[in-house]
Amino acid sequence: MEETIAVYPGTFDPVTRGHLDVIHRGLIIFKRLIVAVVNNPKKHPVFSIPERVEMIQESTAGMPGELEVDSFDGLLVEYMRKRKANVVLRGLRAISDYEYELEMALTNRHLNEEVETIFLTPSEKYIYLRASTVREIASRNGDVSAFVTPNVEKRLIDFYR
Ligand code: ADP
Repeated sequence: MEETIAVYPGTFDPVTRGHLDVIHRGLIIFKRLIVAVVNNPKKHPVFSIPERVEMIQESTAGMPGELEVDSFDGLLVEYMRKRKANVVLRGLRAISDYEYELEMALTNRHLNEEVETIFLTPSEKYIYLRASTVREIASRNGDVSAFVTPNVEKRLIDFYR
């Protein structure tokens, strides 16, 4: 089989332990994994692209395997072409993710037949975890240590202080 390069795209505002669980599982399966922060100003992210990239780098330090953290603007399929990647990695939590993820996967396939999307499910601890909930809790001075790594927790505290 040709070398499989996977891209895990997302907003990662900020990276959570759920995302990290998917990254960890992805690294076991794929030869190379690129975690790519999508520049999507429509989502009005709290953290800048460089901050999000840095938080992922810090949170994944020490994970075994070939991992790169990057960011991109524009269409995912174009980015995949540029990076010679053939697999999109996405996380599937509850059934509520399914419709959106299916639509994205089929749209990307329409744009480039050679790109396959593969879904991984995290540990059940993280099934209901989403970045927006983490931001919400942190903004009300709640404890988010079970949901994010200490470096991300610190950034959230500094941001909402
Ligand atoms: P997007 O804005 O593209 O949905 P996110 O950063 O929210 O970006 O999520 C990126 C990917 O990670 C998506 O496939 C999403 O379903 C998945 N994901 C988010 N949170 C979790 C989690 N707790 N467990 C597993 N996958 C997750």
